[in-house]
Amino acid sequence: MSTLQQMDHSSLQHLHEKTKKELDAIKKENLSLNMARGKPSAEQLQLSLELLDSVTSKNIGDNFSVLNYGMVDGLPEAKALFKDLLEVDTEEILIGGNASLNIMHDLISKALIKGVIDSETPWGKEDAIKFICPVPGYDRHFTICEQYDIEMISVEMLNDGPDMDKVEELVRNDASIKGMWSVPKYSNPEGITYSDEVVERLAKMETKAKDFKIFWDNAYAIHDLTDHPPKLKNILEACKKHGNPNRVFMFASTSKMTFPGSGVAVVAASRENISFIKEQLSVQTIGPDKVNQLRHVRFFENYSNLLEHMKKHAEIMKPKFDAVIEILHSKLDSYGIATWAEPDGGYFISLDTMDGCASEVIHLAKEAGVTLTGAGAAFPYGKDPRDRNIRIAPSFPSLEEVEKAIDVLCTCIILVSTKKLL
Ligand code: PLP
Repeated sequence: MSTLQQMDHSSLQHLHEKTKKELDAIKKENLSLNMARGKPSAEQLQLSLELLDSVTSKNIGDNFSVLNYGMVDGLPEAKALFKDLLEVDTEEILIGGNASLNIMHDLISKALIKGVIDSETPWGKEDAIKFICPVPGYDRHFTICEQYDIEMISVEMLNDGPDMDKVEELVRNDASIKGMWSVPKYSNPEGITYSDEVVERLAKMETKAKDFKIFWDNAYAIHDLTDHPPKLKNILEACKKHGNPNRVFMFASTSKMTFPGSGVAVVAASRENISFIKEQLSVQTIGPDKVNQLRHVRFFENYSNLLEHMKKHAEIMKPKFDAVIEILHSKLDSYGIATWAEPDGGYFISLDTMDGCASEVIHLAKEAGVTLTGAGAAFPYGKDPRDRNIRIAPSFPSLEEVEKAIDVLCTCIILVSTKKLL
């Protein structure tokens, strides 16, 4: 079979008409499938049900300090459990509330009002503030910037992380660049893990802003789908080695390990940064939800159990990822009209159509009953300059639904691509 670009006009026309009929038939099925957001499935949530029984009136014992105010930086037992997730010491981690995004948002809003540990001026008092945003990236990071008028500078993601030549050049020359977003392992949406070289360069690079911060959102630190996951270099250690210990804030949460919205979020950083954050946090709250922290401590008991738990998630997720990849290959390989990532973990598969096709594909899929993440969502200001990126989130629907949804997606891609080439 020839690629669409090689096809003559009449074959292209024929394929277009045939695909149109297929899509019309699909529409009659009244599908209602959602692959828009990376939510765990019901089956995954069930893996953690016993967490709900781990703290009860019968077994709480004399843990009154857990039930009372205090310990603003979290339960020591929770620090001991989660420190290995980000490979830090117990003094370098703070256990927060139910969402890491909340901590990120708070840190940025406080930086705007008061500055970070090494700021001479609060960020909000500067004439302009900019953040580097590797693209495609996580839409909610970008929304925080948009909300607070932080100008976003897109930097392309390469196979091993952001384009570091570009990043280094930007931060070396522009004092208004105060921060950078990073999802360093199984990036959202491409599933890329930063190479050691990228981590080293980020830790070492010269920045014109003395209070430059990397927001290292390691949301998928242990969300592996294979037995031989890529190893992410420890950026805090690299920053310390290069004399920039306060450069990085690292985040993680159990949102996609136990219950999104009812999990435990953590931030890790240098001791100095952690005491700075703790001081600020003490103004905001007299203590986090330590009962939920205790639930997690009792449910997992230790880090190796947590890793075992993640294998059970992988058993549920892997067949869905495999199905997506297999169907994309079988339906699209020969046409040469799309490329996609085949990640070893995380929650997403990122697909690129031909330029200028993604919004229409997403629109057609929606009409056919398949909801995908909105076009442009993975880019600052919601604008994909090439209108080609589609984020596939296969976790929530059942395997059968994933198969059906990807089938529909492929039909839409063929339809839009043939139209474009005709
Ligand atoms: N960071 C990334 C990269 C994510 O993909 C998500 C959720 O999809 C989050 C953070 C949200 O984490 P949390 O529930 O801890 O706020």
